Amino acid sequence: MSLLQVENLCIDFESSGGLVRAVENFNIRIDHGSFHGIIGESGAGKSLAVLAIMGLIKENSIISADHLSLEGQDLLTMNENTRRKLVYQAMSIIFQEPQTSLNPCFTIAFQMIETLKAHGIHTSSQRKTKVRQLLKDVGLNNIQSILKSYPHQLTTGMQQRVMIAIALACDPLLLIADEPTTSLDMSEKFQIMDLLTTLVEQRNMSLILISHDFTLLAEKTDQLTVMYCGQIIESGPTKELINSPGHPYTNALLQSLPTSWNDLPKSQVPTLKGSTPSLYHLPVGCYLGPRCPQASAKCVVPPKLQRNSTHHVRCHFPMNRDDLLTEKLVSTS
Ligand code: SF4
Repeated sequence: MSLLQVENLCIDFESSGGLVRAVENFNIRIDHGSFHGIIGESGAGKSLAVLAIMGLIKENSIISADHLSLEGQDLLTMNENTRRKLVYQAMSIIFQEPQTSLNPCFTIAFQMIETLKAHGIHTSSQRKTKVRQLLKDVGLNNIQSILKSYPHQLTTGMQQRVMIAIALACDPLLLIADEPTTSLDMSEKFQIMDLLTTLVEQRNMSLILISHDFTLLAEKTDQLTVMYCGQIIESGPTKELINSPGHPYTNALLQSLPTSWNDLPKSQVPTLKGSTPSLYHLPVGCYLGPRCPQASAKCVVPPKLQRNSTHHVRCHFPMNRDDLLTEKLVSTS
C-alpha cells in the first residue's frame, strides 16, 4: 500500500478574468521510504499541488481529484475534521523562508511548545523533554539559549533547523521540503540537505523535495516529477529521467547545467527561446509549443502523459537516447 496516492488533482482559481487552471491532472504516488523530487519553474504548480493535498488552500479555489488517499484512507470522502487530524499527524511541511514561517513575536520555546500541544502532547514535562530532544536531533547546541531566543536572534540556518524540528514534532510519515535551502548560503545548504536526508532515513519517513535545483534532486531523490505550466511533463525514476530525458523541456533544463565552472565565462548557457507563458494565455495544444525546438504541426493537439520505455513523458515526439547522443555529437562537432 502506498503512503500517498493522488490521481488527476486539478486546482482552479477564480479571478476577474474567469477560472484559471493552475494545476492540471497532477498524479503522484509516494511509497514508504521513498525520496521524490518535484522540479519546475516558479508558477509551475509544484508547491500548489502539495499544499492542496495537505488541505492548505482554501481561498478562491476549486480543487478536485479522482483519487486522494493517505495510508489507504480516502481523503476525498472523509469529513474535514478527520481529514485534518489524519493529514497533520502523517504529513509535515518545511517552507523555503524560515524567517517568514516563524512568528517574530514569540520565543522558539513558545512556538515549539504550542506545536506539541496541538499534536496532543499534554503534559508539560513531556513537552519540555521532547522540545530539547528535537532541537538536539536537528544538530543545535546551546539549547537553553535557543529556547529563550526570538527568531531574529538566530541565523537563517539555525531558524531552518528550528523549522525542521517543528516539522518533526508530530513524528510524520511524510516530510515535504519546499525549497528548504533557497535562503541559505552554500555551506548551510549542504548541511541542511544532509541533515534532512539523514533524519528521513533514521526515522523511516518518506520525502517530497521541491526544488529548482536539478543537481540537488539528482543527488537526493529516487523518483522525479518535472512540471511546466501546471502540468506534469515528465516523471519517473530520477536516474532514468536524467540519463535519458524524453521531454524537450527536461532536456533543456539538463543542458543548461554548467558542466564546469570554468565554462561559464566563455560559453553562453543554452536555454529555450522565449519565456514561460502566463496561465491566462496558454498556447493551444502543447504548452511548450512556441518555445520547443522540435515542435511540428501535430503539437497543436494537446499531448498526453504517456509511458515510454522507462518513464512517463508528455510529448508527441519524445526524445530517446539516440537523439540525445546525436544532439551531443552535433553540438561538439
Ligand atoms: S509535443 Fe511538440 S511542442 Fe510539445 S514538447 Fe513535444 S515536440 Fe515539443
